[in-house]
Amino acid sequence: MQTAAYFERIADSPPKLRMFLQAMPKGADLHNHLGGSVYAEDYLHWADADDLCIATDSYRIVQPPCNTPGRMPVRGVAENDYARYSRAIDTLSVRGWENHVGDPAVAGYDRFFSTFDAFRGAAEGNVGKAIAVTREAAARDHVGYVELMVKPKAARALQQAVETKAGTDDDFAALSSILNPLLPAVIEQARAEFDGYDTEIAAIEGCKTAQPAPACAVEVRYQIPARRNQSAARVFAEFALGFAMAEADPRFVGVNIAAPEHDPVSLRDYTLHMRMLAFLKSRHPAVPLSLHAGELTLGLVPPRDLHSHIRDAVEIAGAKRIGHGVDIAYEGEAPKLLKRMARDRVAVEINLSSNAAILGVKGRDHPLTLYREAGVPVVLSTDDQGVLRSDMTNEYLRAVQEHRLRYLDLKQIARNGLEYAFVSGASLWQSHVGGATVAPCATSGAVPSIACTQFLNANPKAQLQWRLEQDLAKFESGLYQ
Ligand SMILES: [Zn+2]
Repeated sequence: MQTAAYFERIADSPPKLRMFLQAMPKGADLHNHLGGSVYAEDYLHWADADDLCIATDSYRIVQPPCNTPGRMPVRGVAENDYARYSRAIDTLSVRGWENHVGDPAVAGYDRFFSTFDAFRGAAEGNVGKAIAVTREAAARDHVGYVELMVKPKAARALQQAVETKAGTDDDFAALSSILNPLLPAVIEQARAEFDGYDTEIAAIEGCKTAQPAPACAVEVRYQIPARRNQSAARVFAEFALGFAMAEADPRFVGVNIAAPEHDPVSLRDYTLHMRMLAFLKSRHPAVPLSLHAGELTLGLVPPRDLHSHIRDAVEIAGAKRIGHGVDIAYEGEAPKLLKRMARDRVAVEINLSSNAAILGVKGRDHPLTLYREAGVPVVLSTDDQGVLRSDMTNEYLRAVQEHRLRYLDLKQIARNGLEYAFVSGASLWQSHVGGATVAPCATSGAVPSIACTQFLNANPKAQLQWRLEQDLAKFESGLYQ
């Protein structure tokens, strides 16, 4: 294939590889936290518009008034004080971390996770804008579908309802009986919240005008992530909302669990969380789970905590996808687990820049090749591209440079992104991804037959896959020969 041959000629040139990969259609980004997806420059811009301030000691975004001791207005810093502006960006991201920028006494994981508190003030009131810039980033990277992790604001009402119910952590039926009567109103509020974002985003990107931005073509779906390092009852409340929303609103397609896995509360309650998910899944069997699991490495936690997180996510909670899976080689029965994941098509979302910054795991130490050789489906994702100062093209670039992936490997990964997406509908592929298409589309060329069109209209997943195939064909025929 000419494109693969061209790739071989340029693979050792980072600038040429960047140009090639930037233009390559990449299918989907299945692991993307909305808050972490935004670059610090955008947060500072929005903070300025919202009259928020920067703290003079911590460089976090804080509430007004700004002309008081310990605070400074964002605009003054942005326009007149480059040194402080630069410090603010370094505080809201891990900029330069891999090149040793920043305090060497602060670990990568601490610097990474501290950014979320630092930009929270600017994030909370700008969710619609954040979704819009994330879609714009996807369009720039030729990513057609994004699964974004974001929590509706109405989740708070559920958390408060279970907050003081001591002793119920392990009694899932009791927690459900508190939450279930509240869910209809919370769901209605959450849906209205996201209706508002839809309107705002369409306006920002001109999606209803004669000249819509390329971002308008990017499909977005949402997963609700529970924050794992809080009280167990609150985690349960967030899970319950995730399951309920995925059943109530097609924009919401799955449930996740996030926040530092090495946090003592996360470690203590890990199995409890998996049992909560098993309980809720038994009541909502159609709702799929993608779970952060194994975002750990030796030394960060005691070896016993590396022993079974991925297995428990797969076997107890029934995860369809695993986020990170970095500590797989430390799992108690890793070969057996890898076989099971390959057999059951449990995909792994690989986040190379994230793992390098947070865990210091990169290059040959990263298990990407292990998963691939075991036949486990893999996808590449961004995790927190704004905080990490990366983008999807860069994740593909890293996969080539650090793991020697070739063009056909990347093409498979792009296709996997849509195959393992939680978007509704049947697959375009009969059995294996990239093989024979389903019967209604088997005889279609570039233009789908009537039967194929009907099939695509009824199956959003297949429609996205069809579009990716057209884009790949265009990419391969037009750009690099
Ligand atoms: Zn993540």
